[in-house]
Parts: sequence; C-alpha cells; structure tokens
Amino acid sequence: MTRTSAPAESSLALTRRARRIGRLLTETHPDAHCELDHDGPLQLAVATILSAQCTDKRVNEVTPKLFTRYPTAADYAGANRAELEELIRPTGFFRNKTNSLIGLGQALVERHGGEVPGRLDDLVTLPGIGRKTANVILGNAFDVPGITVDTHFQRLVGRWKLTAENDPVKIEHAIGALYPKRDWTMLSHRIIFHGRRVCHARKPACGACTLAKVCPSFGAGPTEPEVAVKLLKGPRAGALAEAVGLDPALVPAAATATTVDVP
Ligand code: SF4
Repeated sequence: MTRTSAPAESSLALTRRARRIGRLLTETHPDAHCELDHDGPLQLAVATILSAQCTDKRVNEVTPKLFTRYPTAADYAGANRAELEELIRPTGFFRNKTNSLIGLGQALVERHGGEVPGRLDDLVTLPGIGRKTANVILGNAFDVPGITVDTHFQRLVGRWKLTAENDPVKIEHAIGALYPKRDWTMLSHRIIFHGRRVCHARKPACGACTLAKVCPSFGAGPTEPEVAVKLLKGPRAGALAEAVGLDPALVPAAATATTVDVP
C-alpha cells in the first residue's frame, strides 16, 4: 500500500498542520497570483504552453506582440510556422511549442467553435495541454478550483511532508483532500510564490522563513537569519524579512527585482 503521510501523524493532525501552513502562506504572500500575463482563457493557454522550461518573466516579454498578432484560435490554426517560431523563439523549445500552438488553434476551431473549453476532460485532449496546464486554465480563467502541481509545488509539499507521493496526479489528489476545494487555486499560487521567493530548490531561506516553526524540513537551507535573509527574492523580499523580525535593509537590492526570474 502506498504511504501518503508520515506514519506517526494521524490524518486529523496532518490536516490541521496543512491548514496552518495554508494560513501562514496566506499571510506571507498576500500578492500571490498567476504570474503569466493574460486576458482570457486562450491567452492563458498559450502563455502556459510557452512557460514550459521557461521563466514567466521571459514569457511575459514575448506574449504582448504574440497576442496582438494572433488574437484568436483561428489565427494560431492558420499561422505561418516560420513567423510564429521566430516570435516565440526566446522561450526555448520553440519548434515543439509552435507545433502545440498551431495544433491547439486547429483543435479549438474544429472541435470547440474556436473557444477554449472550461472542462478538464476536454482541456487535456488539446495539443500542448496536460493536466497541470488544464488546472492553471480552469483556476485562473474559469474560476473552477484547481491544484497546479509544478516543480515548486511538488518540492514544497514534500518538504512539509504533506504527502509522500511522487506522481503529480497523486499529489494533486492527496493535497486536494487536505484543503477546501474553494482554496485550491490560491493555495497553488501561494505555494509556488513561496517556492520562487523563499523555499528555493538548492538553498531554501530557512532562517528567514515564516513557516520555520511548522516545517519538518527546517534546516534544509541556511538557518542563520543574516545568511538566510540574503536568499529572499522578489519585490516583497523586504516585507518577507520583516515578517520574521529581520531588518529589510539586509535584503540585497538585486533580490528585489520586480519579477522573480525562476522557471
Ligand atoms: S523552513 Fe526551510 S524548508 Fe521549510 S518551508 Fe521554510 S525555507 Fe522551506
């Protein structure tokens, strides 16, 4: 049988701890949101496809021109491949992504009247759209609660020992069971925010983390506050330092760039 939580912790205790982490994340990241600039489901679908192996910052640099040039699904369906490739080249893997965008446009025109469908089952049949992307679209363009298990989400819920699962779909279900459905979309944003700004893959800022008291992995990164505070990132890095009683002036100026440049 697959283990889904630490053996010593009852499911009630696990849920309570998970909810506490959720509340701390809400306080820590009041600015959490989808970091891909978009207006409507089609733009979000396109931006999410482009975000594979690429930072949201880079995607946001490319999409204004792209969205102006290709406003509808039919525009992607009939796109000139060379022109589209050139426009999205800075996001990497541009040939595959071009295939996905043209295929997406064609599928939307042929099967959905040119509109992005609002159901998971339909979304996952579209070119370039897997379960993670589908949940991003549902949560942010259709207000349908969705859990987005990306690399940050997976790493953080593992560090918090909220689940021992490794498969993204199993993680999605395990974490979904710990929180009210209405909270799923914002919880996903807050976890991803925490992963990009505080709980980094290589050097998590444990000594400057608002979750330090409840985190079973405290110590995975530097615990000395004056070292950890220098690892905080993002425009609110000073506020994040203050939240744990540290002087915001200790945060290096370069760390407070307006956009966090982490995939
Ligand atoms: S204490 Fe460390 S490992 Fe735990 S959430 Fe904070 S930064 Fe991540």
